[in-house]
Amino acid sequence: MTDESKRITIVGAGLAGSEAAWQLAERGFPVRLYEMRPTVQTGAHESDKFAELVCSNSLGSNLFNRASGLLKTELRTLGSLLISLADETALPAGGALAVDRASFSEKVTKIISNHPKIEVIRQEVLEIPEGPTIISSGPLTSAKLSQQLSKFFGHKNLFFFDAIAPIIYSDSIDLNIAFRASRYDHENNENGDYINCPFSRSEYDVFVNSLRNAERIQLKSFEEEINRGVSAGSATFFEGCLPIEVLASRGQEALAFGPLRPVGLRDPRSSKRPHAVLQLRQDNLAGDLYNMVGFQTNLTFSEQKRIFRQIPGLANAEFARFGQMHRNTFIASPLVLKPSLNTIKRNDLFFAGQITGVEGYAGNIATGLIAARNMARILTSKEPLVFPVFTMIGSLLNYITQASMKDFQPMKANFGLFPKLEDKIKNKNERYQKFSERALSNLINYCQMMGEPFL
Ligand SMILES: Cc1cc2nc3c(=O)[nH]c(=O)nc-3n(C[C@H](O)[C@H](O)[C@H](O)COP(=O)(O)OP(=O)(O)OC[C@H]3O[C@@H](n4cnc5c(N)ncnc54)[C@H](O)[C@@H]3O)c2cc1C
Repeated sequence: MTDESKRITIVGAGLAGSEAAWQLAERGFPVRLYEMRPTVQTGAHESDKFAELVCSNSLGSNLFNRASGLLKTELRTLGSLLISLADETALPAGGALAVDRASFSEKVTKIISNHPKIEVIRQEVLEIPEGPTIISSGPLTSAKLSQQLSKFFGHKNLFFFDAIAPIIYSDSIDLNIAFRASRYDHENNENGDYINCPFSRSEYDVFVNSLRNAERIQLKSFEEEINRGVSAGSATFFEGCLPIEVLASRGQEALAFGPLRPVGLRDPRSSKRPHAVLQLRQDNLAGDLYNMVGFQTNLTFSEQKRIFRQIPGLANAEFARFGQMHRNTFIASPLVLKPSLNTIKRNDLFFAGQITGVEGYAGNIATGLIAARNMARILTSKEPLVFPVFTMIGSLLNYITQASMKDFQPMKANFGLFPKLEDKIKNKNERYQKFSERALSNLINYCQMMGEPFL
């Protein structure tokens, strides 16, 4: 194989693309890295720097016994450039890894631009490139490239919006108040598929008022369709599922006739129909995550925590993921991607970053690292890496490529993705510690088995 046939094209110098470019270049592969900014802007990025953090400057927890902290430990073990630069530019933030965003992206830009194996091209990519390619063009992939992706995968397999409802850890739900039942199935209440949180009239009124006055995340101009609730274009845009706070502001009873309708449900404590009911639906096989049905929202995360804890049965709710509504281009990974991050259709075409359906800065860095390592492996005729589901990286990639398409939504690192421990551990911190220890030993064993370097 000539050097040229091993040249890899990477589209997008965000978190995933920058990590991928460096991993490949360090392994001796020539890389052509395309970045459209500053010529074409995304609407959210403000600079021409690589790996710009568009919103929060926090990469999440840095604690080993937290899901996001474990992910960073795994990335450090695998030699991630971006996590090492985040460590170098860290600011005091308790247990979290927050960075000075300007110096973080400046350092990334400098290292990538000066690497002898990386050629940076400031240009919008309009078509899917031929030859070995990693597409890491992010949640705000340009319109022209999005059209090409729609064509390549089929219109139904490219999404443009997240309308995500929050997810709660089941062991934080108070089952003395909430009850199991399926709608209209009064005979079989104890085994019902849903956990139901019943509102009295006064609890409902307080909740609706809180929702109406809650602080919302400011929408960008390119996200205005969310407020209008319209469907646009031929591809799968946002399909009319309004944020609950918008519904609540339309009328006092709008939620009670919408996502909180109580029909077919009786509270076993009173045998009566509650005024309103929030249904929680199981979200993972292990049964420790529950989705708040119909609760897509654009409230700030701190407001979601404060207001959703007013829901009867959720006073101590722990959130595995908060609700979100924003422009987010992502592919139907369970249908089109392999767990090694290359497409089923074309072996030398990889995807990395938010476009794969992985959420969170650290998760996006992880996909860049894995896509690059697997690209290097297939170009040298080695079997690609598919990390065990006991590792945070493995469980995330397993989720995005194996999840049911019925309600596939982007996912961030969380312990609910893990298979259960052999021994039941009640104490949450001890359980999480064990999850993390198991993950790290699996990661190291797997690297040794596959001959992959680690630190
Ligand atoms: C408004 C907004 C706020 C967010 N806030 C957070 C947050 O607080 N915390 C969090 O963890 N995540 C947040 N996210 C998600 C965040 O975008 C990702 O976590 C992360 O930036 C994604 O990394 P990435 O590498 O996939 O994409 P990006 O970092 O966006 O990088 C993609 C790059 O590709 C370039 N590009 C796009 N199309 C083309 C093309 N055709 N040709 C060449 N270049 C192209 C873009 O200019 C961009 O530089 C937010 C997303 C948005 C849209």
